[in-house]
Amino acid sequence: MSEPAPTALEDPEGQRVGAGQLRRMVAYGRKVFHLGIRLERVVDSRRAPRTSASLVAAATFYTGLLRIRSFNALEPRLGEKSFLRLVGASAERERLCSVDTVGRSLCRMELDPVRAISTAMLAQAERNKVFREGWHGALRYVAIDGWEPFSSRHRHCPECLERRVKVQAKDGTVAVVLEYYHRYAVALLIDERFDLMVDFEPLLPKDLRPVMAKGKGKHMASLVKAVLDEGEQTAATRLIKRVHQTYGWIDVVVADALYANGPFLTTLDSLGLGAVIIARKQTDEPLREAVHLWANQAPHKIVEDVKARERIALWDCRDLETLMSYKGKIRCVRGSITKLDQPEKNPSTWCMLVTGKATRLAPEKVLAVARARWHIENTGFHQWTTRWKLAHVFRHHPQALRSLFWLFFAAYNLLTLFQYLQLRSYGRQCGKDVTRTISRLVDQMLDELACSQALAWDTS
Ligand SMILES: [Zn+2]
Repeated sequence: MSEPAPTALEDPEGQRVGAGQLRRMVAYGRKVFHLGIRLERVVDSRRAPRTSASLVAAATFYTGLLRIRSFNALEPRLGEKSFLRLVGASAERERLCSVDTVGRSLCRMELDPVRAISTAMLAQAERNKVFREGWHGALRYVAIDGWEPFSSRHRHCPECLERRVKVQAKDGTVAVVLEYYHRYAVALLIDERFDLMVDFEPLLPKDLRPVMAKGKGKHMASLVKAVLDEGEQTAATRLIKRVHQTYGWIDVVVADALYANGPFLTTLDSLGLGAVIIARKQTDEPLREAVHLWANQAPHKIVEDVKARERIALWDCRDLETLMSYKGKIRCVRGSITKLDQPEKNPSTWCMLVTGKATRLAPEKVLAVARARWHIENTGFHQWTTRWKLAHVFRHHPQALRSLFWLFFAAYNLLTLFQYLQLRSYGRQCGKDVTRTISRLVDQMLDELACSQALAWDTS
């Protein structure tokens, strides 16, 4: 059975939440985050273009916001009065440009002003005290993870990573083929209300990856070709340094077991960032030592979460110094979760390494933060792929991919902030299906755009 057509969301006062929301959101973006000015600052390296980079950036931003699924689907919109007014084109203009022009501009867009649309939005939200209360322990958290939006066996660009994959043909024969893909280290701000996109950094392929070969003398170092594509942690290290430089108010990094190592914890330490990192291998220090110490100990703390129907047993061990590649002290926390309505089921167990500012957290809070890391996979990656069309390759070009992702992420952040801070209905939709709520909102915005014809959108 097909889903019923979306209708306007109702809040208890009977207000149609969908009506006029696109107009409200554009006004909110312009007034609070200076969206119009930020888009105007976007430039590219085309010579004397008939359609400015800032108009292309605005068109791409709204392609993301309205979830237009491809450049093919965008093509007719570039000639619609309502869309032209929305992106801020002059009233005389019959058509913005072709999608080829959009693609060409994205390939040559200067990245800093594009990135600034999103970074300024987060900085402004911070100044407006949106994150002031912090979350657990009044701290601000970013989750770091790897993200692979797409792969291809045919098309590739100079920044594609390569791998060999086995494929089975219809007749059962197995062949090894070359697959191209892009992968990014991504930082997402997580708290109980929303996840916002903070920054991303591509993993570089071998021939673009700078590697210093050590010569005899100090000045003998030279650039040589790397043998392997870059690893996720290398890109994540560049990413986290930039995140810290841009957002000095972020306190703690949350990451999976890939990052449970001395060099990464040392990097975070040097930036003054705390860490909550999942640890999986009980044979690796310092978890090995902690597990050894906990062997015959009863749980140090038991917490019953009536709302989540869970009973959590916790073990805690501070000041471990057994990880040779890290100079400081590491705290290990283990949480064992039993579902109260399924006591016969084996409990699920989580182990975490904790350093820096995060060591002030109670053990159950350490566990809550680690579990929230799944936001990045559930809310972030899943939503971006299924709803935001980020797995669709609009233009396969390294620079175009970055420009487009930044513009789409700015749209994602604006929509998220608008929904959580401006829509009264949010509180009741929160525990239900946030993704669906957003989808209905986007549907209503598209309807609104269709009805708006040539109305001016500039409400600043
Ligand atoms: Zn590529």
